[in-house]
Amino acid sequence: MKTELLQKQFQQIGLTESLSKNQEIRFFDRSLNIVCDVCPSEELSVESIINQARSFLEAPAPSVNDPLRFIIHLPFELVQNTTVEESLLKLSDLFSGKMLSHLMIHSTSPPQDWGRVREMIKHLREKSENPRSYHVEFIAPFSSFDEKEMEELFNLGMRIRYAAGWLGESPSSALSQIQKNVLGQLSQMGFSCPIEWYVHGENISKVELLLPDLLYENYSSGFSLPLVSENPFYRFDPGFPALPDASDYAELLVRCYQKYHCYDSVIEPLAGLAMQTRVGAWHKELNQPRTIRLNIDRGGNVGYFLQTPSLAKNWTTIDTLSKSSLEELKNNLVEMVTAVLKRKTHAECRECSWEMLCGGLDETNATQCRDFQQETLCLYRKLFIKHFVSMRTAHLRIERKDCEQDVLISQS
Ligand code: SF4
Repeated sequence: MKTELLQKQFQQIGLTESLSKNQEIRFFDRSLNIVCDVCPSEELSVESIINQARSFLEAPAPSVNDPLRFIIHLPFELVQNTTVEESLLKLSDLFSGKMLSHLMIHSTSPPQDWGRVREMIKHLREKSENPRSYHVEFIAPFSSFDEKEMEELFNLGMRIRYAAGWLGESPSSALSQIQKNVLGQLSQMGFSCPIEWYVHGENISKVELLLPDLLYENYSSGFSLPLVSENPFYRFDPGFPALPDASDYAELLVRCYQKYHCYDSVIEPLAGLAMQTRVGAWHKELNQPRTIRLNIDRGGNVGYFLQTPSLAKNWTTIDTLSKSSLEELKNNLVEMVTAVLKRKTHAECRECSWEMLCGGLDETNATQCRDFQQETLCLYRKLFIKHFVSMRTAHLRIERKDCEQDVLISQS
């Protein structure tokens, strides 16, 4: 069978990308909303394959209830500001019942007073149109804590991650000490407490040595290996740790993914990429990217970013958010997201098959992010997105001539 001819025909019906997998060819659109596997055989003509694919695409799409996701980073200091609650509520109600919000509260030091966090979570649960739409996670280096207070937060559904590797204020070479007894106590209370190790050029060789011990202490709650640039307090400025070498980082992720695969739901940045390839990158009904990442900085500015919170494009402020009508905000958000996506400056991203699944690189100026850093931000994404795309279940499988199609709706 002529693969090139098949590719051309599939392009005409909108499945522009393809991957070869053993004897099969996988066709899909860039947002991965449709995946079709073809098992070429003697009895299958190109015409019959295309007819089967076309009739699948023309049939009414099954309703898939996957929501749009907001990922919102918030510094702990801003929790004291009551305007934040109102603006978070506005965000969660923007597309009513059709969205989920993942609020990540970051602290560079062990938080002492949890009163406002508790109030904020209660407020979000009580006032939101959909009280279960907020998934709240606290990322910090924890020290001693009040058991009763933590129990209450646990019952409110707050999750935690133990921040390590780089805390936003320490010099690049300083490794934050993980208080293993605290990690153990939190885990005994029932918290799943993954280690959030922010990887940079100077700490990349240390984390693997520590992992067995840390996994013992956190009762096998797992770990996460985001780049240091995913920490919202990171800047591409002198005095901040450099990103690791691109291939060292990709190799670290591959080794950990192979050795500790049972933690694949928490190993960031891979879990986020796997989710994108599972549900598709574009929310067709709302005509928006499936995941929208927002960063709220210490000054209360709300920005939209693709990979690096500190490179977020300013969108609005928490004051404006809290005062605006939902309709006004919705239009505003759609306009801003569209403008950022259109303005992508990196030619490589525009030509990349994984652009929609990855999101691409944030716009930077020349001093902020040099070539080698771009490679670090990109290489592992190319590698893992390709892997996840080849692993996911197809919506349609064509292997026989003129017979019922095997349509697989589940998207595992
Ligand atoms: S994988 Fe790399 S080239 Fe492709 S969109 Fe992402 S950052 Fe850009």
